[in-house]
Amino acid sequence: MKVTVFGIGYVGLVQAAVLAEVGHDVVCVDVDENKVARLQDGEIPIYEPGLTPLVQSNYQSGRLKFTTDASEGVSHGDLIFIAVGTPPDEDGSADLKYVLAVAETIASNMQKYKIVINKSTVPVGTADKVREKIATVLQTKNKNIDFDVVSNPEFLKEGAAVNDCMRPDRIIIGTHSAKAETKLRELYAPFNRNHDKVIVMDIRSAELTKYAANCMLATKISFMNEIANLAERFGADVENVRRGIGSDPRIGYQFIYPGCGYGGSCFPKDVQALIRSANSVGYQAKILESVEAVNYTQKEKLFEYIMGHFDHDVKGKTVALWGLAFKPNTDDMREASSRVLMEKLWEAGARVQAYDPEAMEETQRIYADQPNLKLMGTKEAALAEADCLVICTEWQAFRAPDFELIKNKLKQPLVFDGRNLYEPSRMKEYGLQYYAIGRGLSV
Ligand code: NAD
Repeated sequence: MKVTVFGIGYVGLVQAAVLAEVGHDVVCVDVDENKVARLQDGEIPIYEPGLTPLVQSNYQSGRLKFTTDASEGVSHGDLIFIAVGTPPDEDGSADLKYVLAVAETIASNMQKYKIVINKSTVPVGTADKVREKIATVLQTKNKNIDFDVVSNPEFLKEGAAVNDCMRPDRIIIGTHSAKAETKLRELYAPFNRNHDKVIVMDIRSAELTKYAANCMLATKISFMNEIANLAERFGADVENVRRGIGSDPRIGYQFIYPGCGYGGSCFPKDVQALIRSANSVGYQAKILESVEAVNYTQKEKLFEYIMGHFDHDVKGKTVALWGLAFKPNTDDMREASSRVLMEKLWEAGARVQAYDPEAMEETQRIYADQPNLKLMGTKEAALAEADCLVICTEWQAFRAPDFELIKNKLKQPLVFDGRNLYEPSRMKEYGLQYYAIGRGLSV
């Protein structure tokens, strides 16, 4: 099938590559000339496991193309995805300017029936706005062309995006059009062979499903962080509590890890956006407000531990930091907990020596002018002459480090662990002073 994807970010690029892999003919359009040029040179602008060979092979076979030419994109695709960003507006609501700009572009260039598929995460009612925008532009151009607008939210996880798109848990299709439903079922048939994963519903429910899913996951994290904060005060170990509650199948083990807060391009903005959407219909989303508030304070937790340990004076101290990305297996730094920590440390006069397996380039781009940040080539190099080690991201490579080496390289045997990677008793045996989340302070 002929498909066009507007927006070649984490969602658009992965979805486009996966659709091309199963045989669809895909054109990707982006306004970022540099990104398009890099892709045309075979260079993949983001880190996502398994993505590079998938993009390169499909690009070489001609099933995947990249362009900045929107009119070429619109004339190519019978199905046109909108997969552009929906960042928070000043008040936290989702900014729809990119989505509506694409809708306008589609309308300005379309010559025949198109199915416009909204893959970006957008507030309930956005499909109506996209439809209105397209209809208005067509009307001003005196064009009488039929089209459908479908909501098809994306549930991929960064770090596992290729697999998630290849083997989706569910494919939500929000539409009132039988024609559009048939076409989308055909598009996704290669991913829907094992059992029927397609769930068709009305458009507004589909739009809300995406927010409900992300807000539920964020709620689980903030809930567990609240329990961690209680465990800390009660002298309990939250990791025991986690195992204890996870064993109940109604609760389950997934997504109940305490830590130094959630980040990324989705949870913070989607929780905020649903709070604002709720306000707009006269409802106060109290649970979500608390989820956001708990996360905000949780992101400051490591800094508080560090300040408490050093008697509220870290001026001139050097902090070794392992993990910059907002989670493992990605280079995405958006809303990462590491950023909150580093910025607070710099403000307090400390220096940071950081290492991340994939997010160094992105960190360099964001903090190019920061004199108190040194990016180190290995996790061991980051330890040299530092006053303590802090862990912000649970990369596999940090799970079983050489503790003797950590102790020997640091100026003081001191570790702050924002992801509860180690056993406090083992750390004590190694002679390392260890702060973790909700496990009782320092041994
Ligand atoms: P991104 O910022 O990585 O990519 C967006 C791309 O859209 C950029 O390359 C940008 O240049 C391009 N763009 C902007 N305006 C454009 C236009 N007018 N025409 C063509 N391209 C344009 O964003 P992302 O992380 O891929 O997220 C996209 C959407 O998907 C968001 O709504 C997000 O909430 C949602 N989503 C993201 C994830 C995720 O894990 N990243 C998962 C599910 C859903």
